[in-house]
Amino acid sequence: RAPSVFVPSCLRGPVVFQARGRAPASGENGRTMPAGSASLAAGAVLHSLLSRTRIHPKEDRMRLMMLGPPGAGKGTIAKKLIDKYAVPQLSTGALLRAAVQEGTPLGLEAKKCMDAGDLVPDKVVIGLIKERLTQRDCTKGFILDGFPRTLPQAEALARITKLQAVINLDVPDDEVISRLSGRRTCTKCGAIYHVRNIPPKTPGKCDKDGADLFQRDDDKEEAIRNRLNVSRRQTLPLIDYYRAAGILHDVDGAAGVDNVTAASVKIIETIK
Ligand code: AMP
Repeated sequence: RAPSVFVPSCLRGPVVFQARGRAPASGENGRTMPAGSASLAAGAVLHSLLSRTRIHPKEDRMRLMMLGPPGAGKGTIAKKLIDKYAVPQLSTGALLRAAVQEGTPLGLEAKKCMDAGDLVPDKVVIGLIKERLTQRDCTKGFILDGFPRTLPQAEALARITKLQAVINLDVPDDEVISRLSGRRTCTKCGAIYHVRNIPPKTPGKCDKDGADLFQRDDDKEEAIRNRLNVSRRQTLPLIDYYRAAGILHDVDGAAGVDNVTAASVKIIETIK
């Protein structure tokens, strides 16, 4: 398993940072720790550097990302996985929709982009996710859904934490359009239905809380086509980026929820 701490070259040498309360595994970070004040001083410098850059000295938490076009099922599969592994699903789409609903300045700015099916500016979503990753429920890990979507976002994420695996859901465009145009979302709890595939018991009402279901503006066909184009143009480089990093896993996203979940679990078990 690759070391989870990046040690800058200026601090590499005969010393290495030792995570508190834990002896370094043999070969961890590739260095040995001599006794004495030099190591303590270097440890303090590195610790301060790590805090400043917000890289965690020791990351045992599960760090996954779901990749794929809108409507590929990232959210659906992530939900299955969070039930199994008890880590939160971090969806920038959901965070942005919450900001829109609250009518915050950020939400108002984001809404224009979202309604048009365009991406929200990188600096907005990077700020949102940075903040979210520091919350307590991420201690055991997280599954990112819908972030990163661009290379600058991926690079910003790499400065915060190191992903272990990216699950890339591959789904043809026609299937995506059929899935998204039938999608309905609960106005109250955000639960997702589909007019044909996952119909609510009472048409137009949420099974959980009885609130009205609605069709998101960006789930209308014209916006979907735009989102697919935007997604392809902006996120294909991510596939190359994570493939080059050796952590990309392709999964047939049209194989049905149970098969896609099973394939994803198999991938997770290989990285645990
Ligand atoms: P989603 O629910 O993931 O389909 O996201 C809905 C909309 O939120 C997208 O069409 C974008 O406008 C915006 N959005 C969500 N995540 C991101 C992101 N990582 N970068 C930019 N825009 C995003």
